[in-house]
Amino acid sequence: MSLGLYIHVPFCKTRCHFCAFYLQIHREDRVRSYLESLSREILLHAELNSLDGRLLDTVYFGGGTPTTLSCDQLAAILEQVQQCFELQEHAEVTLEAHPDTVTEKGMRSLFQAGFNRISFGVQSMDEDELVKIGRRTSRHAAGTAVQAARSAGFVDTNLDLIYGLPGQTMRSWLATLDETIGLEPTHVSCYALTIEEGTRLYRDLHQGSTDEPDADLQNAMEDEAVSLLTAAGFERYEISNYSRPGFACRHNQLYWRGDEYLGLGPSAQSYLDGCRFGIVEDLLTYHRTLEFGNLPIQECERLTPEQCRRETIVFGLRLIEGTDLGIVEESMDRTWEQVLDRLLDQGLLEERSGRVRMTEQGRRFADSIAVELL
Ligand code: SF4
Repeated sequence: MSLGLYIHVPFCKTRCHFCAFYLQIHREDRVRSYLESLSREILLHAELNSLDGRLLDTVYFGGGTPTTLSCDQLAAILEQVQQCFELQEHAEVTLEAHPDTVTEKGMRSLFQAGFNRISFGVQSMDEDELVKIGRRTSRHAAGTAVQAARSAGFVDTNLDLIYGLPGQTMRSWLATLDETIGLEPTHVSCYALTIEEGTRLYRDLHQGSTDEPDADLQNAMEDEAVSLLTAAGFERYEISNYSRPGFACRHNQLYWRGDEYLGLGPSAQSYLDGCRFGIVEDLLTYHRTLEFGNLPIQECERLTPEQCRRETIVFGLRLIEGTDLGIVEESMDRTWEQVLDRLLDQGLLEERSGRVRMTEQGRRFADSIAVELL
């Protein structure tokens, strides 16, 4: 079983209009307190031997925008992680970055510090679309950032895209895909926009100044993404993820395969020793709890072996390879069998070579299928 470490950096320069993640606007004093608390959290886990001496296969810095921290600050966190936990020799170490926040010099120092995979939140290559979601980024920023990362030594680069954005047309989506492919990343993630409560887009929707994403257009955009990316040599290995052969994101695969991970930083989630637990979504409580020498865990649920198996199955269905039919059959009770049979009959799931997976049609209803099976 693989093991991962996730570090949540809860700062961004501004909040994008679709974003519902826990974060605060970047400020030096907030960053200073965060770094002190994160360091305490890492030390506490090392003292408690939370990872039981196991080696880390992956480390993932996500957010927020981790690159709102300076390169020295990011390198110092990674150094402490390496001192307190042990990494596999070829561990995947990912850093999420906003294209506007990186330079070639910075990328070089991050690569030398041990980061070996970079994931850029690009979302769109169209400036008007970017403005509509609150990102004042030049359309050339992604290209410049990818170039800087590559010159600094990063081979493994991901670009995140969103389809169904306000004002986005099929034509502009195709142009975004085309430009993305032209930058030759090793990995591309394409997410359908959903409007979540608490976001600026949610408010706009209720005030009538924006529309719900058009589901038919989003489906057509997804089809085009599959076809263009596949033609360009990418393999779709999960509903939203495409990679060049050998470059699937190992960290994200931990989640879908039911492997374990420890999450640090406010709002980070963990799955360790059969327990799911989360860190408080509030920086002040996070600081205070750690100052008193305690872990700021807000909820902890111990899963029964049966729940663990079912979660592994449901997450595994998101993968194009699907999930092992043997594990599925082991978990069957009468009710589950009926739900599964119905999903197979409806053509939303399929059985193939000893594995069960979602069909093309099923992938469009992935979240509802998960709710039915959990
Ligand atoms: S940069 Fe990313 S984390 Fe920050 S507000 Fe935008 S989408 Fe959210």
